[in-house]
Amino acid sequence: MSDPYDVVVVGGGPSGSTVATLVARQGHRVLQVERERFPRYQIGESLLPATVHGIGKLLGVTEELERARFVVKRGGTFRWGRNPTPWTFSFGASPRFAGDSSTAYQVERMRFDQILLDNARRHGVEVVEETTVHDVVEEDGGVVGVVLSSADGRRREVRCRWVVDASGNTSRIHQRVGGRRRYSEFFRNLALFGYFEGGRRMPAPNQGNIVAAAFDSGWFWYIPLTDELTSVGAVVLPEALDRVRGDREEALTRLIQDCPMIAELLADARRVTEGPYGEIRVRKDYSYIQERFWRPGLVLTGDAACFIDPVFSSGVHLATYGALLAARSLNTVLRGDLDDTTAFEEFETRYRMEYTRFHDFLVGFYDMHQDEESYFWRAKKVLGRQATSMESFVELVGGGASAELALVTPEAYAAQRQAAFQELADIVDQPVEREGEDRDLLSSALAKDVARAGARIQVHAATGDNLDETRPVRPGGLVPSADGFHWAPPVGATTEG
Ligand code: FAD
Repeated sequence: MSDPYDVVVVGGGPSGSTVATLVARQGHRVLQVERERFPRYQIGESLLPATVHGIGKLLGVTEELERARFVVKRGGTFRWGRNPTPWTFSFGASPRFAGDSSTAYQVERMRFDQILLDNARRHGVEVVEETTVHDVVEEDGGVVGVVLSSADGRRREVRCRWVVDASGNTSRIHQRVGGRRRYSEFFRNLALFGYFEGGRRMPAPNQGNIVAAAFDSGWFWYIPLTDELTSVGAVVLPEALDRVRGDREEALTRLIQDCPMIAELLADARRVTEGPYGEIRVRKDYSYIQERFWRPGLVLTGDAACFIDPVFSSGVHLATYGALLAARSLNTVLRGDLDDTTAFEEFETRYRMEYTRFHDFLVGFYDMHQDEESYFWRAKKVLGRQATSMESFVELVGGGASAELALVTPEAYAAQRQAAFQELADIVDQPVEREGEDRDLLSSALAKDVARAGARIQVHAATGDNLDETRPVRPGGLVPSADGFHWAPPVGATTEG
């Protein structure tokens, strides 16, 4: 380990590896510190298309994920709400997830997280495992480094310009950002989960779907991880906690018997009792959001910042999307383009917006007296778009609500963006002089604005009708830069008087 670094990332999970890779790819010096030796167990196995295809593409792991042959997830099958019959949705129902982007994966996190961490190494991140960050170092009101200790117990201080806390929900580093961790008053559930071999599958082509089945005490997830292995977990409502007291094995068996759909799927299955999947685990107190996401020198991403609830698998999406937003802010300030406040307020605003969309939708989704049409309609209300209810629902639960091109049309993204914005740059910066035209007028701010507006129409044409990301999400806000890895003033913003 050598220092100083531009950025120290705490945590080797998906959020840490995403932010570390996206910052190192811009040439900055990044140290990523992980407490465990990988592969390590983690829950959070059902992913969204926006993560697999969008973030995967930005990280450069698409082919590797394909080679890993994870179970392909087309969507979800739900026994939920007033309707006693299970209903199924497919990501392909939204135009945002067209073609190859219309599926996601169910992943064994030990393998998935290892792929992302190794990929960070390949992109120049210095990764150290079995090393624990104990605290941050502060000077003059800002964070300037971390205190860590490696496997041999040696404790030392490492200096850097920014610390990213991506250490999940078990460390205390997030406390140093200031403000409190606000636990949800609505989501106060407990999860009890284990692994089974020989569980049945839904009929093709939905055999890779996540199954979610509600019952009196809460709901079950049923996630096919391989042909043989299934992750099965009960999310138990606060009023039913007496159902999970005592022996975990007995409690899980009891809950399965209470839920006919899951009992039937597991009729021929046996619980795994050895290895990393052999334990029945419990998780609680996992629904919260930090009052602040950053302060000078310190930024929180992933579970260190917030998590809502396992239903609809938003955890890894929020963790990696938040990491992309943080990486843009880090790259922007490290290059000296903008001040910290401008860059990181953009990160925090957009991160909170995505959290809020999921949160508000999920609160309504827990109302079991509705049918699926009401849930779809609620998604449309949360998104406030012109799309149909079904399209809005799929867009939201696929991770595409932010309308970020990088997350929803990754194939065409880089090429389209590069070409279209180059055209824009040419028009704005080198106006073509024609005979009889006034040189001063052409270079004036007004002329540039007119040119930018014209160029925007061209960008619009090149990228289809999905141009939401060229509009700031708040007055005076920023938009993703042409390369997608920084922030920039929006097209059409007057940059000079
Ligand atoms: P993590 O994956 O937790 O990674 C953090 C890393 O930091 C760990 O490897 C840890 O060892 C390391 N670390 C911790 N402290 C330190 C330290 N002091 N120094 C150095 N390293 C440290 N999400 C989904 O997308 N799909 C699902 O189906 C899903 N199901 C879930 C079910 C349950 C019951 C729960 C509770 C969550 C579920 N989630 C799901 C959420 C998902 O688990 C998390 O959102 C996701 O793992 C967050 O990723 P992360 O990178 O922020 O943190």
